[in-house]
Amino acid sequence: MGALFLGCIADDFTGATDLANNLVRAGMRVVQTIGVPNGPLGAEVDAVVVALKSRTVPHDQAVAESLAALAWLQTQGAQQIYFKYCSTFDSTAQGNIGPVTEALMDALQTGFTIATPAFPDNKRTVFKGYLFVGDVLLNESGMQNHPLTPMLDANLVRVMQAQTKRRVGLLDHSVVTRGAAAVRERMAQLQADGVGVAIVDAVSNDDLLRLGPALQGMPLVTAGSGVAIGLPANFGITPSDQASRLPAAGGLQAVVSGSCSLATNRQVQDFMKRGNPALAIDPLRIASGADVVAEVLAWARPLLARGPVLVYSTADSGDVKAVQGRLGVEEAGALVERTLAAVASGLVQLGVRQLVVAGGETSGACVQALGITQMQIGPQIDPGVPWCHAAIEPPRSALRVLAAPQGGVADLGAARRSSATTGDGDGGLHLALKSGNFGSDDFFTKAFTMLA
Ligand code: ADP
Repeated sequence: MGALFLGCIADDFTGATDLANNLVRAGMRVVQTIGVPNGPLGAEVDAVVVALKSRTVPHDQAVAESLAALAWLQTQGAQQIYFKYCSTFDSTAQGNIGPVTEALMDALQTGFTIATPAFPDNKRTVFKGYLFVGDVLLNESGMQNHPLTPMLDANLVRVMQAQTKRRVGLLDHSVVTRGAAAVRERMAQLQADGVGVAIVDAVSNDDLLRLGPALQGMPLVTAGSGVAIGLPANFGITPSDQASRLPAAGGLQAVVSGSCSLATNRQVQDFMKRGNPALAIDPLRIASGADVVAEVLAWARPLLARGPVLVYSTADSGDVKAVQGRLGVEEAGALVERTLAAVASGLVQLGVRQLVVAGGETSGACVQALGITQMQIGPQIDPGVPWCHAAIEPPRSALRVLAAPQGGVADLGAARRSSATTGDGDGGLHLALKSGNFGSDDFFTKAFTMLA
């Protein structure tokens, strides 16, 4: 394996894909792993993004998982480490951004790093240390009501200082606009003043591109996905189509949607308006013990040969609240996630080799059920969402589905034959994992058109 320039640790799954997407667009060949791999990567890439699910777990667990990811990345020879968190700086009063940053700094024996969630392409900007979402401050953006990580203060210097023992300072916009040399000088000054973590202002991609060269050689960078656009050039890498090249796509096409965000609701409507087959699943029927997975697969089977199908639990907030009222918030979520993951596995057994999954948690559940451990990152469909490609084993949960009395009446041989007849030589799976509010209204159809 050649040089691994960047080793990245992401605190959630679709956030990892978002970071990988920005690196690929800047010319890096990138693989995303699901959790910390057991052995060497075995692929020639410029960057690896290890996707953890550490955003809201207890902070000692987040630290332990992040250090395990760091240790693995170091064995792969990573030259620079990038800790990636959400562009809305999602964290509780105790962490986990602060504790993980501190632990990575200790492990890397470095006394200084930056922190900035700025991602101007998605309207996240930082000015004077305050995080804006679109035109409003973070704590007025709706994030103040987040069920797990309510963000009540937009001042990131204060937010970060509450989470770390290291001194937090500000590298403000007037310095960033003066370019990399001024940024380097200010960083040295901050460090001399005892600052360990500098929140960095950035309101445009130009700011991030000016910041990039100043981060050359910094052992640890912590940021949202935005800062990634300015780093590949430090390793002599320039944007190229080669970086996003995936194996040729084939096989059948399907969308599985468990996201109830506004954008996904629009995307589901748009897909149906175009006359594509779609089937809603009802969480209350699942809870009543109906074999919904088998019913869905029996419905999909004759339709798949004609074009993409959609299976969705997507609903508006009123319907979701009603279901949550009956089943409980967590139970409803887990039930739907398990069902959609089994549906995704069953669809792959039926020969689906181009799969769009909508929803962050839903994506995590589907990828796990499919036994996927790593994905190669391909071309961007919409900001933050690339096509990916993964090798697949016969998914175990689907085998259980197929063994059920009213099962999907497919077998692995049929899936392989189907895959072969529709031209997916390597039998791998093309996957697009779309988090909640990402993507244009025609995202589902656009995604397949793009692969074709
Ligand atoms: P997003 O990226 O939009 O937040 P997620 O998949 O992360 O989407 O989260 C959506 C959550 O809502 C999941 O836990 C999912 O199982 C749950 N869910 C999906 N559909 C319904 C529904 N109709 N009723 C209740 N919960 C649902």
